[in-house]
Amino acid sequence: QSAVSLTDVSKTYYRGEPVYALDGVSLEIPRGSYTAIMGPSGTGKSTLMNLVGCLDTPTSGRVSIDGRDAGGLSDRERTRLRGSEIGFVFQTFNLMPRLTALENVRLPQLFQDVPRGERTDRARTLLERVGLADRTEHFPNELSGGQRQRVALARALVNDPAIVLADEPSGNLDTETEAEVLDLFSEFHEAGTTLVVVTHERHVAERADRIVHLLDGAIERIERLDASDSTD
Ligand code: ADP
Ligand code: ADP
Repeated sequence: QSAVSLTDVSKTYYRGEPVYALDGVSLEIPRGSYTAIMGPSGTGKSTLMNLVGCLDTPTSGRVSIDGRDAGGLSDRERTRLRGSEIGFVFQTFNLMPRLTALENVRLPQLFQDVPRGERTDRARTLLERVGLADRTEHFPNELSGGQRQRVALARALVNDPAIVLADEPSGNLDTETEAEVLDLFSEFHEAGTTLVVVTHERHVAERADRIVHLLDGAIERIERLDASDSTD
């Protein structure tokens, strides 16, 4: 079964002239798969991620998560689904400026049934895994861009979501930190997490098992890097 399934999905933005951001896209994202999305700027990558993450609804077509039609859910149900199932590593999802790194990472667990003591332990473990064990009490404005990005990554992973969506996750990172973040993704992938990563970098995309190339709001081609499991 697919973790996420898009069927003939289109998205049009109306501001003056309509912008056809996505046009008839169908895509299966198998459970446990690792998909990279590439394509020139303005081809619909962010729009696609927003739809896959149920942050936005399509103009036409169908998005289902774990076989459930996302269009049939109420806003409240969609929000709940996002919170429990999906981890976002998006530039636009900023850290809370008045909370420490540790508090930021603890935050998503408040909406889940995680016991208090366990929340702190888990947040600490994730911060260690992204190499920030010595920065837990720092506030976002006391951290570098790359460190903030790693806090955001820890926050996205803290609820152990079934699906992780990342938009340019290694954009501001130096080579060494980037490798650490990508290794962490690979670890989650091996543990069964479904990953979808938007990137401009070929070497980042090559960590995935396939690359979906978008062009002008449509899938130009799907490049398989690992023939072992994906079928669609
Ligand atoms: P990419 O992530 O590949 O750069 P986007 O999905 O951000 O592409 O954008 C696809 C097209 O849709 C672009 O022409 C962009 O200007 C337009 N677009 C994206 N979001 C909006 C929006 N909220 N309102 C109007 N136009 C938008
Ligand atoms: P990216 O680096 O993903 O291409 P963009 O600068 O295209 O980022 O878009 C960043 C965000 O701004 C997107 O999530 C999109 O929803 C929004 N956006 C993009 N183009 C427009 C637009 N023409 N009008 C309004 N919002 C837009």
